[in-house]
Amino acid sequence: MKKIELLAPAGDLEKCKTAILYGADAVYLGGKKFSLRSRASNFDIEDIKEACDFARSHNANIHVTVNIIPHESDFEGIKEYLKTLEEIGVTAIIVASPAIGQIARKVASKLEIHLSTQLSITNYKSVEYFDDIKPDRVVLARECTMDEIRYITKNINTNTETFIHGGMCVNYSGRCTISNALTLRDANRGGCAQSCRWKYHLYDGENKISDDEILFSMSSKDLMAIDKVYDMIEANVSSLKIEGRMKSNYYIATVVKTYRKLIDEIYETKKRPDKDRIEYYEREIAKAENRLTSSGFYDGLPDESGHLYGVNGAGVTHDFIGVILDQDDDYAYVQTRNLYRLNDELEVFGPDIDNETFVVTTIIDENDENVELVNRPMSVMKINIPFKVSKGDMIRRFHDDN
Ligand code: SF4
Repeated sequence: MKKIELLAPAGDLEKCKTAILYGADAVYLGGKKFSLRSRASNFDIEDIKEACDFARSHNANIHVTVNIIPHESDFEGIKEYLKTLEEIGVTAIIVASPAIGQIARKVASKLEIHLSTQLSITNYKSVEYFDDIKPDRVVLARECTMDEIRYITKNINTNTETFIHGGMCVNYSGRCTISNALTLRDANRGGCAQSCRWKYHLYDGENKISDDEILFSMSSKDLMAIDKVYDMIEANVSSLKIEGRMKSNYYIATVVKTYRKLIDEIYETKKRPDKDRIEYYEREIAKAENRLTSSGFYDGLPDESGHLYGVNGAGVTHDFIGVILDQDDDYAYVQTRNLYRLNDELEVFGPDIDNETFVVTTIIDENDENVELVNRPMSVMKINIPFKVSKGDMIRRFHDDN
């Protein structure tokens, strides 16, 4: 049986490489044109090519979002762009516009076409509608229930991809113009200003009804579907997608590694993870920065518990301390991200290392002097780590205030 794909986001090359090294089977990214989140993208064609070369050398694939809702003026250069993506080794494009799908079929026929979640596909008949494009994959709407995912996957003759983790839109994805209205930034042409997550005063006529301390937000909780991975595999879904092209390198590493381990465990044990294992994986996810989470629509229409109500982040248990650059016989060389000091207990994780802990007993700064505390981001320190670590491994520490 073909193993389900783990598909991770990347906002730049470093994140792309991290995602692949930490266990993603494929990475999706956006170019500077024709993509949502285009404002955040650092991928020009050279970068996309480098991402493809890196992915190929690690047995992974690159998908490129070409998912704007194009107006007439947006098509300029699209044919050349699609041909170039095909030539440099991109596996798939993710499209929200049937027009872009049709153009791709004609000018870049080797590119797989994945229908974006922006199309809000929540039933199998909608997939049939796109028969002339012959999509290789359909990214189902985040608003589907688990039963609908099972039913659609069974009744279509192409593959399905579902979201497993990350931010949710308060509107159906792609059918939102809050950002357009409040900031003149078109969410469907790469400009979403996340206006749903702002904090608002609420008025009923002249009367303010919001609490000044806890302002109203339209923001949904993030999706976390750790407990649905087994169901997705059983339902024959082809790919599990993590959302978050704007998220940090540390977040990508933490979330990708967690889902990698979970998927591998399910294939190894061939059974549904029990409550203890689910809680273990949820604790792993909580080590990275996050909003509060829920299971989204997978168990049915979310009630008020799926809403954030003015709270932004919570429940994160660990700080990201630094990245390993190298290790010799005596010390590891660590690039600093957050404050740490002597006697801290730190945890190392990486592609080949799983939550090994140690106590900091020596810190030597760039002037070869022993120091007690490190508080300069990006400074490189020599510290004692009593086990083997590798370049790219990450260090974190349990919050003092937990
Ligand atoms: S404003 Fe919010 S709901 Fe609208 S597209 Fe942006 S993130 Fe989604």
